[in-house]
Amino acid sequence: MLGKPVRTCIVCRKSAGKPELLRLVIQNGNVEIDEKKLKGGRGGWIHQNCLQNLKSIKALQFAFRLSNEEVKELQIGKFVKDLSAINLDKNKEQ
Ligand SMILES: [Zn+2]
Repeated sequence: MLGKPVRTCIVCRKSAGKPELLRLVIQNGNVEIDEKKLKGGRGGWIHQNCLQNLKSIKALQFAFRLSNEEVKELQIGKFVKDLSAINLDKNKEQ
């Protein structure tokens, strides 16, 4: 029998069940939100409320434990912009 998988948020480091967290994945130099939570590869789990604390390259680098070389290869600036758009969309719905 499978227990409930517990993940740790990459920003606040608190544990939470899979349904409470979003999954971020790094693929082809992009950081994306994996809505189906099925993609393999490098990634991390994060509370929706913690997304707003990931809006800087430094925060992302720390959260994913990226080296400076990896940061250069990733389009993190694009992700930070996408993140702003996501939060804006969410505010519109409320
Ligand atoms: Zn969190």
